[in-house]
This record gives sequence, structure tokens and C-alpha cells, in this order.
Amino acid sequence: MQQDLLYRYIFEQLDVRGELVQVSDAFTKMVEGRNYPDPVKKLLGELFVTTSLLTATLKFQGHINVQIQGDGPVKFAAINGDHEQNMRGVARMQGEVKGDNLLELMGKGHMIITITPVKGERYQGIVPLEHDTLTKCVEQYFVQSEQLRTRLWFATDVTEGQERAAGLFLQVLPVHQRDKSEADFSHLETLSDTVTSDELLNLDAHTVLTRLYHEDNPQLFEPQPVRFKCTCSREKTMDALVNIGKDELLADVQENGEIVISCHYCLTDYRFNEEEIKAIFN
Ligand SMILES: [Zn+2]
Repeated sequence: MQQDLLYRYIFEQLDVRGELVQVSDAFTKMVEGRNYPDPVKKLLGELFVTTSLLTATLKFQGHINVQIQGDGPVKFAAINGDHEQNMRGVARMQGEVKGDNLLELMGKGHMIITITPVKGERYQGIVPLEHDTLTKCVEQYFVQSEQLRTRLWFATDVTEGQERAAGLFLQVLPVHQRDKSEADFSHLETLSDTVTSDELLNLDAHTVLTRLYHEDNPQLFEPQPVRFKCTCSREKTMDALVNIGKDELLADVQENGEIVISCHYCLTDYRFNEEEIKAIFN
């Protein structure tokens, strides 16, 4: 079956929109070589589909960063995505990971969603981590930021080298006939609640949506490919070095022979010798 695709759909008669994303390769590439414990991989998979689904709700070009921070064993986990579904992500731990619900992993903390349009003002929404699942946190974000009923269903498989994640999204459309749209949403929500992890992960999108909503005639748009892609570069790394300051960098490079900056997201090493450091400041 085809993976790494995001589908958006609407319904002929119902004032609700939906999205379904299924990722495998893109997710595997994001976590490979990291030795993340399984619960952390699962969390990153859920954050990945969250970011992909959120990115698809944008009505403009831009970036979304979904980040959770806490004082528990996982210090933070973040995914960056853009309107072309280029995604990257990372998690940092500060203790032994035990348990696997959101609060056990993160402790006290919050989720920060930052939307940065290519043109226009940045928007940031912050939700405290008060629920034991990420789905509930993201649903709370939508209530807070858009006042639109929204539901999500996630599934993950963190088998080493074959990691997969999937997410289903439903949102009421902002229409005038509020009673009808609310009733439409409740109807589809009940149907969606029957979806299983096995279906979300193992069936292609058309089959999943037909099984769930066959009487409501979902209309699918062309799917969008989802990729793991880091946006780091030697140039951006040099820009970051400038902020550290010339004297400190020169002392460092003279002592160690070179300066190595690793990208947190893709583990690429950018190396600079003394001449290259000097050139940055000329
Ligand atoms: Zn990178």
C-alpha cells in the first residue's frame, strides 16, 4: 500500500472536513540512528501526524512547529513542518523513560504550537499538558484557538526500522447553520470512533474512509506526499556561529583544530577550520 501521503476530504451533504495521514519511510528516517525508547518514538510519531494534519489546515504558505516541553523523563519533543509537508523532528530526554502515557513521559509541561506564515504575522498557541494522551491536548488546542469542534485519532507502530504512524482528523466547518454542522459532526464522530489502529496503519486511505463513511460519500482531494526533510545548511550554521562571537570561536578552533556543529534534526555535521571561521567574519 502507498504510504507517506496526506489526504484531505469533505462530504457531499455534511458540514465537516477531514484529513487522513499515513507515514512510514518519512517517520522511520526521522527516528533512525537515535536509539529513542519505544514510548518516545510513539510520541514523536503522534507529534509527526499532528504537525502534518495541522499543516494541512493552513490556508496560506508557512511553517508549523509543534513542541511539547516538560519536567519529566522527556524534556522536549518537537516537529517542524511546512505547507509542502517537509517534516523534521527531535526529542531530548533528561531521565529514564518509564510508562508511556503523555503525563508519565513529560511530567508537568505544555504544548506550544507556532505557526509562521511566509507572509504575515506569527501565531502561537500554548496548551498545558493536562491529559494523558496527545490527541486530547491537540483537541484542546483547537477549541482554544479556533473554537471549532475537532477530533483526532492516532495509531503508531514503532517496530525498529519499520516505524509507522497514522492520524485521522475531523473538524466542523465554520458555517452559519450551526445546529446542522454540529449534528453532522456528531454523526461522523460516532462513525470515526469505531476506527482501529490496525485499520489506520494497514489499510490504504480509500479503504479506511469507505469503511468508516461509505453512506456519507466522502470526496477525496489529490493526496499530498509527506517527506522527512531537514532545512539545515552550511550557510544557516554559519549565521548561527556569528552570534557566538569571533573571539570565542577562534579560541575554540585554535584549541581543537576545528569546530563541529551537528544538526539536532538530521545529525549532519558541519565542520569549520580556523581559516573558515576567520572568513565568516570578513
Ligand atoms: Zn539538519
